[in-house]
Amino acid sequence: MNTNQSPNEAIAKDPEKEKRKIKSVKTMKKIMTDYYIQAKTASQNGKLVAWITSGGPVEPLIAFDVIPVYPENYGAMIGASKMGVDLCEKAEEMGYSRDLCSYARSDIACATIDGGPIGGLPKPDFLVCCNNICGTVMKWYEVQARYFNVPLFIYDTPFIHTEFSPEARRYLRRQLDDYITFLEKVTGKKADMDRFDQVGRLSLEGQRLWQAVLDTTMNRPAPMTAFDAFFHLALIVTLRGTQTVVDYYTELLDEMRERVSQGIGMVPDEKYRLIWDNLPVWYRTKWLSDKLASHGAALVSDTYTSAWSGVMHLIDPDNFMETMGLAYSHAYINTSVDMMFEKVKEMVVKYGADGLVMHSNRSCKPYSFGQYDLQKMVLKELDIPTLIIEADMVDERNFSESQIETRIDAFMEILKGRKK
Ligand code: SF4
Repeated sequence: MNTNQSPNEAIAKDPEKEKRKIKSVKTMKKIMTDYYIQAKTASQNGKLVAWITSGGPVEPLIAFDVIPVYPENYGAMIGASKMGVDLCEKAEEMGYSRDLCSYARSDIACATIDGGPIGGLPKPDFLVCCNNICGTVMKWYEVQARYFNVPLFIYDTPFIHTEFSPEARRYLRRQLDDYITFLEKVTGKKADMDRFDQVGRLSLEGQRLWQAVLDTTMNRPAPMTAFDAFFHLALIVTLRGTQTVVDYYTELLDEMRERVSQGIGMVPDEKYRLIWDNLPVWYRTKWLSDKLASHGAALVSDTYTSAWSGVMHLIDPDNFMETMGLAYSHAYINTSVDMMFEKVKEMVVKYGADGLVMHSNRSCKPYSFGQYDLQKMVLKELDIPTLIIEADMVDERNFSESQIETRIDAFMEILKGRKK
């Protein structure tokens, strides 16, 4: 998440485009600023801080009144602030391979020098790692647990090839008990099941509202694009399970609906509707947004921001804590390429997409490995053009502007030809 500039700030500099500015951005920035202030002053206010992976089960932390902090969210801020290369190089000097995820490299380097856009993250009292996004986080969090000398809880989600077995359900259920025991020990508090229930309902409501915001792009023109979603995503990641999220997405949804009723699109003269796959290229969101918009192309959806709401149907609202493991295990990149394809297919139909843009992300292997198979399946079964862009979400050394520009232009020519 870029706290420095949202896509619509750039738009606001052009008076003719002022009407496309998303007003809720201001509220969002204030919430994120307050959140980081609270996190950085937690110890002065007698609160504990836990670092947790982006797809991890955060609701128990909220129920225990622990402030969750996300190194990956900070990694996105580092990328957007163009501080990634320095920090990645610092990690490489420490002995970490350039092939390691740039979020992990940035965070490991940051911790030693309090680096990054807000002078480092607050020190963790403990860590929670969920491997539903990748295996890298296991080693990354072990490194940080050793560095800060704090406890680490690992929530292990089985990979889903085709289906979820009863054994896997029981395995996850047992881990919930272990997780609660761990939290009782590190916080010195007893679990409050009524509070768990309340947090679970807020989490589900936040996810429902987030999905409703994303679904406003089914309208033509789309009132926002995936570039806006990349920015507004930060709350469902960091404050899931709180009233703050529910209130904010209610405000954002109202604004999007108002834009739809007035026919305000984010891309002027929207002609082509595309879906994005993989993490954003944080340091180039504006460039990519402008480049696509210059062709009249809007990114109307993506597989990344929808990951925080795409599995809510698996949760029983009356039994959140018991069923959340099932949902967390079904995270998009914890499933097979066949299941990923089903998701992409659903999105192509739902959002009326003309093409698929895939970011082959050097950092994120689990997201990128199956993309060429996915591409073949999309071409064969959906018959829409695909574009693969090779880059990295944070490490700018892996971004070639001229090469990507050429590929986008060629891709758009194919789309234009098909429209004719
Ligand atoms: S490898 Fe991918 S999923 Fe894992 S931490 Fe890095 S960006 Fe996230």
